[in-house]
Amino acid sequence: MRLLLLGAPGTGKGTQGERLAARFGVRHIAAGDLLRAEARTGGELGRQIADYQARGDLVPDQIVFDVLIPAVVDAAANGGYILDGFPRTLPQATAGAALGARLDVSLQAAVYLYAPDAVLTVRLLERASQGGRTDDTADVIRHRLELFAETTGPLVPYYTERGILVAVNADQSPDAVTADIEAKLSKLSLPNA
Ligand code: ADP
Repeated sequence: MRLLLLGAPGTGKGTQGERLAARFGVRHIAAGDLLRAEARTGGELGRQIADYQARGDLVPDQIVFDVLIPAVVDAAANGGYILDGFPRTLPQATAGAALGARLDVSLQAAVYLYAPDAVLTVRLLERASQGGRTDDTADVIRHRLELFAETTGPLVPYYTERGILVAVNADQSPDAVTADIEAKLSKLSLPNA
């Protein structure tokens, strides 16, 4: 199983990614988590990544490729992956598609989780109040939602044109979202799904 979870901050990509990875027995690769882990190792690269993340800006594509591609290639060789947050820009999507085609491990579906910005803002502020991430402040949340619309939004028509987009309403309970994703994937009759 090779899936991408596409969705604005707060749509529940992390929660659903973990569940789908367990369900299909593949690795959940969360771009933000891998980049945060790299940032914690310190050094110049780590400091740069931490600065982008703290501002809610996207980390430059080349850094993202260096951190993410080895994990994706390794997972692909071991049964597949649930990608969460990568690709997140059109250049990342086209580079990822070229690599996937070359290694014969192309994406089978892109699951687009959508919900109103007002709902997402409440969720992220709630996460912040429970000791969440340092980028869960009102200003940085607004910036991340804007960047999602501008930069990641174009991936929705991109994957629709390729016939692999599955749109799921994320403004429901986590269980209902998981059930919708599984129902829609089963209609695609993917291997192992
Ligand atoms: P969220 O979806 O809530 O923004 P993530 O953990 O996916 O949370 O991402 C957190 C931050 O990590 C982003 O704001 C950005 O700085 C960085 N990041 C994650 N994925 C990417 C990516 N594919 N390209 C560039 N930056 C990324």
